[in-house]
Amino acid sequence: MSTVHFTCPDCAQTIEVNDEMRETILDAGCPVCTATAAEEDFAVACE
Ligand SMILES: [Zn+2]
Repeated sequence: MSTVHFTCPDCAQTIEVNDEMRETILDAGCPVCTATAAEEDFAVACE
């Protein structure tokens, strides 16, 4: 089971995301501040 965390490059908010949320963030930006997000802002942690 792997978990993906998004860390916003702008507001530094870290959010645990699923695949659907990841796509949404890449499309619409950070859910907190709407800053543009890139692939490198996502980190995968295997548990
Ligand atoms: Zn943000």
